[in-house]
Amino acid sequence: MSHNSSCQICEKVWPSDDHYIGDLGLTKAYLFDDQFFAGWTVLILKNHRTELFQLTREERMELIEEVSRVGEALAKIFEVRKINSELLGNQIPHIHWHVIPRLKSDPDSLKPVWCVSHDPVRLSTGFLEERLYQIRTTLGIF
Ligand SMILES: [Zn+2]
Repeated sequence: MSHNSSCQICEKVWPSDDHYIGDLGLTKAYLFDDQFFAGWTVLILKNHRTELFQLTREERMELIEEVSRVGEALAKIFEVRKINSELLGNQIPHIHWHVIPRLKSDPDSLKPVWCVSHDPVRLSTGFLEERLYQIRTTLGIF
């Protein structure tokens, strides 16, 4: 498995294990630390790759299936107006996909989440466990 010792994801600096949802195949899913946008999930590619073109065609196909699977699960759980699926990697250049439910109650639905100023929301342990369980069961991961 490909690893890069200068990468925050490979070095397990982020995301934190207590936000782990489950293993989807090519990726592992984690609940994003800041839950201001409820259900915000991050899919982390297991191998260190920075660009889609470094993957095989089959891996790209599998990756988009996993992103879709999580988006569909989140859409079942939340009152979703739109799912945002974002692959950026400017801050941490290791393929990770943000899958973000934009709810009907969204404070600024026309803007990308990065442009919506807000105080970060950290879930209490009980509420975090509840949300992880809800996403796992909807995904069929036990
Ligand atoms: Zn990495």
